[in-house]
Amino acid sequence: MAAREVTMTRITSCFTSIFLAAFLAACGAGETPSETASTTTPASENDIDLIVNGSHIVTMDEVGTIIENGAIAIDDGVILAIGSGDEITAKYSAAVTLDGERRIVMPGIVNGHSHAAMTLLRGVADDLALMDWLQNYIFPAEVEFVDAEFVRIGTELACWEMIRGGTTTFVDMYYYPDTIAQVVEDCGMRALISATVIDQRSPDAENADDGIRKGSGFIERWQNRNSRITPIFGPHANYTLNAEQLAATRDAAMKYGVPISIHLSESPFEVQNSQNTYGMTSIEHFESIGFFEGPTIAAHVVWPTQEEIPILAERRVGVIHNPTSNMKIASGIAPITEMLEAGVLVGLGTDGAASNNDLDMWEEMRLAAFLQKVDRMDPTAIPATTVLRMATSGGATAIGLGDTIGSLEVGKRADLIQVAFEDVHHVPTYDVVSHLVYVSDEQDVASVIIDGKVVMLERKITSIDTERVAEEATALAARIQAALNERNQAN
Ligand SMILES: [Zn+2]
Repeated sequence: MAAREVTMTRITSCFTSIFLAAFLAACGAGETPSETASTTTPASENDIDLIVNGSHIVTMDEVGTIIENGAIAIDDGVILAIGSGDEITAKYSAAVTLDGERRIVMPGIVNGHSHAAMTLLRGVADDLALMDWLQNYIFPAEVEFVDAEFVRIGTELACWEMIRGGTTTFVDMYYYPDTIAQVVEDCGMRALISATVIDQRSPDAENADDGIRKGSGFIERWQNRNSRITPIFGPHANYTLNAEQLAATRDAAMKYGVPISIHLSESPFEVQNSQNTYGMTSIEHFESIGFFEGPTIAAHVVWPTQEEIPILAERRVGVIHNPTSNMKIASGIAPITEMLEAGVLVGLGTDGAASNNDLDMWEEMRLAAFLQKVDRMDPTAIPATTVLRMATSGGATAIGLGDTIGSLEVGKRADLIQVAFEDVHHVPTYDVVSHLVYVSDEQDVASVIIDGKVVMLERKITSIDTERVAEEATALAARIQAALNERNQAN
């Protein structure tokens, strides 16, 4: 199937991109006044920042164009042109060129739901049910150990792991969002960062009101500061906030014009709790209080009813599927096939490293496909192309960035990765998309470009001092381990 798609779409896409490239070049795209002023001989408008070659360019555009022996011209963080390697090389002269031999180029992966700094709590409490895990382990450990320093180191660790695995954008929900934003600004990733709102004492707020107040300050500080960073609100869930607090968080989000990320319909406990409290399931309750009137990124959504799925589609709620976390905490199997059929926007996420226990989006892709197949006893459920879309263009749309990233198209921001197809598990390759979803893993990711900047080159991360982060994480984990040992001895 994919091989036929290649031959059908390659020719038209090349012509279109050449035309657009010529048009953009004629307009002098990417040239800034300061660049012109500082050069004695004016640089040609075809002198650009970066050319990325690939044996295949998997664009993930609307029609699934795949270009063999292709290249992407990038300047000023934007994709200027996409075409055959020969055409792009003949037209443009780049400061940096990445070789494309045995390299598949695809959009950077979008991790739609994470708690990045929880990398530092990886493995401290496994094999527990969601409410036991949250209330008896995670929430107390967070109040005890989580401060701005913890968040800085844990988020750096997560960004390192995500870049290494080809993730270029993530939606985070954790504490000390200013610290998270600073790490993201420095490491070059793209992120929607939620200020957590929860009605209990948390590491950075006393209660929900305090959370909204501090979150508003965070949004004022970071809105329009860096185009890679979108500050948003992250009310925790229907069971950790009451109806007034949920509505107040939505009001604050509307005031600043920002989306909300939230855990929604995650477990049977949550649905039952909502029934008991409101006489309605979570999604019905949210609809009844007008919560979906602004953009919503909803993580998990494992237990939507048949009546609730059309609400999610109509309200354009971005559903983030977290198959590993849902399996590990035994939350259930989300009806992804039904949601996609109903037109719900669906992306993929890892959730935090304490419930996964890694940030490997390749694993999420594979499990998303396999879970639907075995749940429905139907091997045709969620084919490879669909799941790759959920991790790229579909995920970008679900988090509200569909016009900016998620596919390799002229005019979009240049977030892309090169995946090496040289390991034995890629020999032979009949179908590139099949291999990306069912074979590739994090170790295959060779280079990562975010917003036109190379942040990993041939597996060497250039934007994070990984040695320092490893040392700091190890030292902090030793302190956490000592405190846990002390507590266990006291009990
Ligand atoms: Zn979560």
